[in-house]
Amino acid sequence: MKVEILCVGTELLLGDILNTNAQFLSKEFSSMGFSMYHQTVVGDNVERLKKEFELALGRADIIVTTGGLGPTKDDLTKETAAEFFNKKLIFDKNSYDKIVDYFNRVGRTISENNKKQAYFPEGCTILKNDHGTAPGCIIDENGKIVILLPGPPREIVPMFKNYVAPYLKKYQEGTIISKVLRVSGVGEGRAAEMLEGLIDNQTNPTIAPYAKDNEVTFRITAKAESEGRAEKLIEPIEKKVREILKDSVYGEGDTSLENVLGAMLIDKKLTIATAESCTGGLLAGKLINYPGISEVFMEGAVTYTNEAKIKRLGVKKETLDKHGAVSSETAAEMAEGIAKTAGTDIGIATTGIAGPGGGTEEKPVGLVYVGLYIKGKVMTRKLNVPGDRQRVRNTVVNNAIDWIRRSIM
Ligand code: AMP
Ligand code: MG
Repeated sequence: MKVEILCVGTELLLGDILNTNAQFLSKEFSSMGFSMYHQTVVGDNVERLKKEFELALGRADIIVTTGGLGPTKDDLTKETAAEFFNKKLIFDKNSYDKIVDYFNRVGRTISENNKKQAYFPEGCTILKNDHGTAPGCIIDENGKIVILLPGPPREIVPMFKNYVAPYLKKYQEGTIISKVLRVSGVGEGRAAEMLEGLIDNQTNPTIAPYAKDNEVTFRITAKAESEGRAEKLIEPIEKKVREILKDSVYGEGDTSLENVLGAMLIDKKLTIATAESCTGGLLAGKLINYPGISEVFMEGAVTYTNEAKIKRLGVKKETLDKHGAVSSETAAEMAEGIAKTAGTDIGIATTGIAGPGGGTEEKPVGLVYVGLYIKGKVMTRKLNVPGDRQRVRNTVVNNAIDWIRRSIM
């Protein structure tokens, strides 16, 4: 079965809102094993919407629209679909009572306009909206299925999961399952190169690299008649990817580097403190994203000036005079200083030139030193990070977190 999505709303065309419904529906349909070859966005305009219905129905078996079910004049999806299929709009008392009920519950008064939300194309299946006023509906006719869904993500997501997916179950031909492996510390090009033979020779499962800020993910996708069978297809490929990329695979699915590190620190009962210059608290903030980190995260110091580095961390004045604040020596003393004064197993420090100003020939923008102290041992790392101020700071933070992770594995 081929499916298409048709997102309705002028605000989407103007860039006022991001089309997250398209992403949500794409994911859902692909995991259900439906093929999708087209997606369309159209404004709130009856003529253009009708044309899109015609085009989409010429190509696909199932059309899903989002948006345009609201109470206002520009919400026209249902009316247009009814006209397109030559159907009368019929008042549904049950839906109207639910809308009234909804308004009572949230303590708002119902407007005359909301009554239009209780009219539906004759003969359709009505989809309850448990999180808003606009019910959806399904027109199932002559082998074509048109599903009209509301625009707000908090309404469409539960409506799809609770009512649409079960309705479409009988049309499903297989299942597509994906597994995402998350990689840090190697760039996309290098990682893809390492997996080259594997990627090129796969059709089911497929392996798709995807580069995000400071990490690469590999999505392994298999299609099979059942979930269990698809998982079986993924297993050996995942094993090979992990064998090739080794420690660089830091996690899978919806996780993040800081979550993985947070869990490791707690598991290994290792306490940590941060001393930051150029990242200015960003590193501490990242670590604190992980719920439960309070068990091991003791302290974060933002020591921006030389005086602060001396006073708070015990960095020697001679070190700063001789090597400068942005130096391996300073990074080492900062890391050791924060660990000793905070009484932690690990101290991590950053010092560098985030730009755009402040660079010299000898110490250009993007030059950063990271210091890592672990139980009596100090190491430093020199980075040359490209990009603007925020990119430099973010990259340094990721690099530092990944370094700690690899060091305590
Ligand atoms: P509508 O039903 O067209 O009046 O849409 C109501 C609201 O839902 C809009 O103002 C948006 O905030 C949201 N919305 C509509 N379409 C989308 C979409 N494709 N993706 C994400 N949000 C949307
Ligand atoms: Mg709209």
